[in-house]
Amino acid sequence: MTFVVTSNCKGCRFTDCVAVCPVECFHGDGEMLYIDPDECIDCGACVPECPVEAIFDETELPDEMAKWTQINADKAPGLDAVTETSDPLPGADEKKKELGF
Ligand code: SF4
Ligand code: SF4
Repeated sequence: MTFVVTSNCKGCRFTDCVAVCPVECFHGDGEMLYIDPDECIDCGACVPECPVEAIFDETELPDEMAKWTQINADKAPGLDAVTETSDPLPGADEKKKELGF
């Protein structure tokens, strides 16, 4: 099992999640973060920290987001680990409002 970052993270990258992750399983590109399923220890600590509810237990992913399990697994191992919080991307607050949070 693993946890999975989904599209709500795109364009925001608030990074509150990485501050609570006990291992270094978040990896990022310029747009969003991804969880490496081989590193995630399934603790669930990151889920309530995400202000846009982008993180799911893979077993609870809504059907329309099912593809994100594979996207996280494909992308995360090739990207640098993100272990410290940083400023959100420009426009992140607007995107958050658009998403209804
Ligand atoms: S807290 Fe949520 S939106 Fe922010 S980087 Fe983590 S998963 Fe993405
Ligand atoms: S479930 Fe735990 S180990 Fe996995 S990404 Fe979230 S905080 Fe890190």
